[in-house]
Amino acid sequence: MNLVSVIDEVKDRLDVVEVVSSYLQLNKAGRNYKALCPFHSENTPSFVVFPESQRWYCFGACNEGGDVFNFVMKMEAWDFRTALEELARRAGVELEPPTPAQEQAAEEADRLREVLATAARYYHHLLVNAPEANEAREYVESRGLADETVEAFLIGYSLPEWERARTYLIKQGYSEEDLLKTGLVIERETGGSYDRFRGRLMIPIRDGRGRVVGFGARTLDPDG
Ligand code: ZN
Repeated sequence: MNLVSVIDEVKDRLDVVEVVSSYLQLNKAGRNYKALCPFHSENTPSFVVFPESQRWYCFGACNEGGDVFNFVMKMEAWDFRTALEELARRAGVELEPPTPAQEQAAEEADRLREVLATAARYYHHLLVNAPEANEAREYVESRGLADETVEAFLIGYSLPEWERARTYLIKQGYSEEDLLKTGLVIERETGGSYDRFRGRLMIPIRDGRGRVVGFGARTLDPDG
C-alpha cells in the first residue's frame, strides 16, 4: 500500500468523533458535535466536529480546522509520521516497513537526540554542582525557581569557556560531526569547533514525547 492509500485506509477505519471524544467532552448539536475548543481558551463552545465530512473546525479564535490527522497532531504536538503511526495502530492498519533511507534518518535523529539529552544532563550537573556556577545558582534563586523545578525541567548552565561542552561530549563518545549537526558546537574556519553556548542558563526544549530536541539559553551577563 502506498502512503496515500494508507492514510485513506486509516481515515476510513477511524471515526473522527470517536478520536476527538477520547480527548474532549463532545455534546451533540443537531447533526454535529460541539465542545470547548482545546486550542484556545473559551467559555462558549465554538469547536465543532462534523461526522459526515469527518472533519472539525474551531469557529472561535482559532478559525481553523482539519481532519483526524491535524487534530491529533495539534493535540499531541506530534509530527505527521508519529500521527500516522499512532492512528494506524489504533485503526489496525499495518504500515509498510520504513525504507533504508527512512531508517537511516530515524537512526540519525535518535542519535542526535541522545547527544542533546546527554548535554542537558551535563549542563544540569554543572548548574547544581560546579563552583563556577555560583552566580547562575544565585540568579536561579533570585527568580524564585525551586530546586524541584530546576530538577524537573533539567535546567542547566553552560560554562563561560570555549570548548568545555565539546570536550565533555567527545569524551562521551559522540562524534564532532554529530555535535555540529545538533548545533551545540560551531565549526571553526581553521578546523575543529567551539561551544555555541557559553555562560548561559540552559533550558532544555522537549518534543511531545518529552525528548530533548534543543535548548533555550539565557545570558546572565547584564551586557550580553
Ligand atoms: Zn479554537
